Amino acid sequence: MNHTSLTSEICEIAHYLYNKGLTPGKSGNISARFQDTVAITPRGVSLGQVREDEIVLLNMEGDILAGGANPSSELHLHLEVYKNKNVQGIVHTHSAYATGFAMSGKKIERLEGFGELKMPFLKMVDYAQPGTMKLAQLVGKALKEEDVIILERHGVVATGENLTEAALLAEFVEETAKIQFISRVLSNMEF
Ligand SMILES: [Zn+2]
Repeated sequence: MNHTSLTSEICEIAHYLYNKGLTPGKSGNISARFQDTVAITPRGVSLGQVREDEIVLLNMEGDILAGGANPSSELHLHLEVYKNKNVQGIVHTHSAYATGFAMSGKKIERLEGFGELKMPFLKMVDYAQPGTMKLAQLVGKALKEEDVIILERHGVVATGENLTEAALLAEFVEETAKIQFISRVLSNMEF
């Protein structure tokens, strides 16, 4: 792993997430860490179209090393997670079904594959304004004991031992939310 493979991995996963419909428009941001370097998607660029030369490389203090001066508006959220947890990839999405649960305050049942099953529902972090240090700190703290969390009225943050694992977890959470939505609607229908 070096900086070039970090940026190419980010682009590959960004395009994957977009093509799966998990990050429509210009929503969502992802990052990967290698040793003390973090690579993150730029702000204001669709994950479906992002290019390798637009990926921003920073150190753990947030100082830009390469790739332009336009990191994601959730940079602090990503850095705060890396400071608190030994993960190498983070995916943040506003994917439709999971965010629907987040917007309505309804909980998503925890299934196998979401870490420990001791709690019945995925953890939901209290609302804080996107892009703020307050949100970054709440997320950094919550992910100490979780692989994935729901942000109240906002979206999803998934982590992994690498970026691919984080992306697959975000995808799985979305699919789970979709199934639970369908199941709850059908359960209330008269046939
Ligand atoms: Zn967001």
